[in-house]
Amino acid sequence: MDTVELVEAFPLRIPRPTPYLGGLEHGVEPNAKGLFIRPGNRTVYSVHDHTVLVRVTAQSGQAGWGECFGVVAPEIVATIVKELAEPMVVGRHPHQVVEVFDDLYDSLRVRGYFGGFWLDALAGIDQALWDLRGRLLDLPVCHLLGGRRLKQLPAYVSGLPGTDLQARAAVAKDWMERGFSAVKFAGAVAHEGELAEIRAVREAIGPDPQILADFHWRYTGSEAVAIIRSMEPHGLAVAEAPVKPEDVAGLAHVARSVQTPVAAGEELRTVHEYLPRLEARAMSIIQPEMLHTGVTGFHRICLLADAFHCRVMPHATIGIGIGQAASLHVAAAIPNFDMHEFQHTIFHRNLRLVDTDMDCREGHFHLPEGPGLGVTPKPEAFSYMVEPWPPP
Ligand code: MG
Repeated sequence: MDTVELVEAFPLRIPRPTPYLGGLEHGVEPNAKGLFIRPGNRTVYSVHDHTVLVRVTAQSGQAGWGECFGVVAPEIVATIVKELAEPMVVGRHPHQVVEVFDDLYDSLRVRGYFGGFWLDALAGIDQALWDLRGRLLDLPVCHLLGGRRLKQLPAYVSGLPGTDLQARAAVAKDWMERGFSAVKFAGAVAHEGELAEIRAVREAIGPDPQILADFHWRYTGSEAVAIIRSMEPHGLAVAEAPVKPEDVAGLAHVARSVQTPVAAGEELRTVHEYLPRLEARAMSIIQPEMLHTGVTGFHRICLLADAFHCRVMPHATIGIGIGQAASLHVAAAIPNFDMHEFQHTIFHRNLRLVDTDMDCREGHFHLPEGPGLGVTPKPEAFSYMVEPWPPP
C-alpha cells in the first residue's frame, strides 16, 4: 500500500502590479502586512496575490498537489495543515480520500471548527489526495468522479479594472472581441452605482453578451430588489451576492422578488451551510469555491444543489492554477454546470508558475489533459514563499 508519508504546506506571496479589483480608493492605505479594506464592501484585500500550496507525498515518492484559500495571511492555513492535519493524514492511502476528508472534518466538529480556516486547510489536502490518487492510477480527476461530460467549459470574464466607467466598459468590450460572451462587474468598485455600470457596459458591448453583477453583499433585501429591478431593462443575466451572507431570509426575499436569477455561495464551505439556503430557495445558482471546499466538498455541494434544480457557476479565487484545475475537473463531471468564473487579472499571470496545458481562451476553459489535476508547480513558484517559513 502506497500510503502518505509527508504533508507539506507552502504559503506564497506573489506581487502584482495593481491590487485585485483595481487601484486603491482615495485615502485608502495598505497596512504593514499589505492588507487594506475596500470601503465599497468593508472587506479586507491584499496588495499581493496570496495562496497556499499543499504537497502530499506517498512512500513511493509520487506526490499530489492541492491549493488552499489563502487570500489574506496564508501562513495561518499553512500552519494548520502542518501542525494539526498532517499527523492525521500520514499513513492513510490516497484511495481513502473521501474517508480522510470526513475523518478530518469530524475530528474538530465538537471543538466548534466546522468552517473557516480549518476547512480551507482540508480543501488543499483533499485536492492533493485526489491529485495523488489520479497520478497513481494514471487517470484525470474528472474520470475518477465518474465521467467528463464536457470537452471545454464555458467561461465568463470576471472584474473590470479601470479608474472610471468608460475605462471599465472598454475592458468588457475588449474581452468580448476576444471571443467571450459573458462578463461580470464588481459592485464594490462600481463607484457610480450598479445601474450606471450596467448601462455603460451594455452600451459598450451591445445587446447580446450576458452581463452579470456582483453586488458584494452590500444591500438589505428590499434595497437589492429595487436596484436589481432597475437594472433588468438593461439585460441583467445574474444577480450575485445581493445581501450579507448571514441574511438567508433576505436572500430568499430577493430571489422571490426579481426576474433575474440570484447567485450566491462563494463564501460557504460545506453542504451544511448550503442546505438551509437551498431549502429556502434563496438562490437558483450556486457558486462554490474550490479553495474553501476541496474536491470532495465541492462535488457534494453541487449534487445537493442539483436536487434543488440549481445551476453551478463556480467561483474562482486567487491562486496559481491548482485549485482552478480542480474546480474544472468537478465542473466537467457534474450534471448542473453552467459556466465558470475566469479571473483574467490572475489566471494567465500566475499560470507561468505551473506546468500544465490548462488554458482559458475564446470563451472557454480547456481542462488539463494529464493524470490527476494536471497541474504541477514549477520551481520558480517557490521563490515567492513567505519568508521566513516555517517561522523560527
Ligand atoms: Mg463574488
